[in-house]
Amino acid sequence: MPVIPPSRDTARELDAADPLAAFRREFVVAHPDLVYLDGNSLGRLPVRTRARLADVVETEWGERLIRGWGEGWFTAPARIGAKIAATVGAEADEIVVADSTTVNFFKLVVGALGARPDRTTIVTDDANFPSDLYVLQGVVELLGGRHRIHVVHTDGCDVSGENALLAAIDDRTALVTVSHTAFKSGFVYDMARVASHARAAGALTLWDLSHSVGSGPVALDASEADLAVGCTYKYLNGGPGAPAFIYVARRLHEVVSNPIRGWFGQRRQFDFSLEYEPAAGIGRFLSGTPQTLSLLAVEPAIDLVLEAGLAAIRAKAVLQTEFLIALHDARLAPLGFTLNSPRESARRGSHVSIGHAEGWRINRALIEEMKVLPDFRQPDNIRLGIAPLYTSFVDIFEAVERLGRVVTERRYERYSSDRLEVT
Ligand SMILES: *Cc1c(COP(=O)(O)O)cnc(C)c1O
Repeated sequence: MPVIPPSRDTARELDAADPLAAFRREFVVAHPDLVYLDGNSLGRLPVRTRARLADVVETEWGERLIRGWGEGWFTAPARIGAKIAATVGAEADEIVVADSTTVNFFKLVVGALGARPDRTTIVTDDANFPSDLYVLQGVVELLGGRHRIHVVHTDGCDVSGENALLAAIDDRTALVTVSHTAFKSGFVYDMARVASHARAAGALTLWDLSHSVGSGPVALDASEADLAVGCTYKYLNGGPGAPAFIYVARRLHEVVSNPIRGWFGQRRQFDFSLEYEPAAGIGRFLSGTPQTLSLLAVEPAIDLVLEAGLAAIRAKAVLQTEFLIALHDARLAPLGFTLNSPRESARRGSHVSIGHAEGWRINRALIEEMKVLPDFRQPDNIRLGIAPLYTSFVDIFEAVERLGRVVTERRYERYSSDRLEVT
């Protein structure tokens, strides 16, 4: 990619030429001078979601009452799952929406270990999301301590970690599970490479797509991935606590079983049989009643992503992260910042992490007085999340300008180094 001149004029030109620029108007932008760079933690509210939710509450719940189940609620997990499938390279009947990412991850870890009963190792990495590690630790305890978790060390910015992961897979490996895009560095695994290596060794792969879905194309089926989970409230803009999705490759529907058996995953749910008999296909990975209000809010948001197209979203994400890195090199590196994300765009997701010894206090100053909302990840990472549907190039330019000013004007010195619980 040619070097992008790191200037405000370039930002304006890139915005003027941006084929997705109109999508920003599809989102509620209550404070245009606030630069929002945390769409990878909580996506913005789509304008159409506001109207949809109002209708769900007032008409569907308020007027239709219990009849709502037969008028679209009951089929929503599969219907919305099919739309997510279109964004991650899966068949419509390989994904359902339910529960949280953490709970779905638990279901699939137990299911996968059950499908490889003679194997005892789980391979993961230290760039994985902590919740996933906690689930693995809990499952190992639950299953009597027969399994060992091998946490491969990665540096987060190049393929050495991926090579180490492959080297850790052997004939004792039951399951290989990583975040497709690492939540700190933004490193993206080569899914097809890892999946084919694991498959050749007889292990299953389970992908956490939370930081990938909606930020560009994912090719689950083409990569021969086995299992996956992911969030809908990050780049899919589904809203706080929106339910997650669960993917099981069709060939495994009868092989991997759901440990959280519930009536929504039962074959003939309304027979009220006292014996569990799993529903056919992906429906067996449902458990209890869906969080219907949150679930229905996800649908218009995914429609927006589908309208924009994943290839166009990814092309803009690449250009925007390149622009951000060019700005970092020109303006921030001389102030003591380091790039903590891959420089190779093919290995980088839609967020960029930059480090600074005073990262925590700089981040506080940005939020408190500079109208920039990034987020912070220990020990010194300021994460700048780019959501191509609504982040502009001028947003990115402004964020870097203000970051620079926090340091050159020594504004961060007014803040304590004490950590808050939530950023
Ligand atoms: C955000 C995120 C989660 C969140 O899981 P929840 O159960 O929805 O809280 C899980 N995994 C990854 C990689 C994430 O980025």
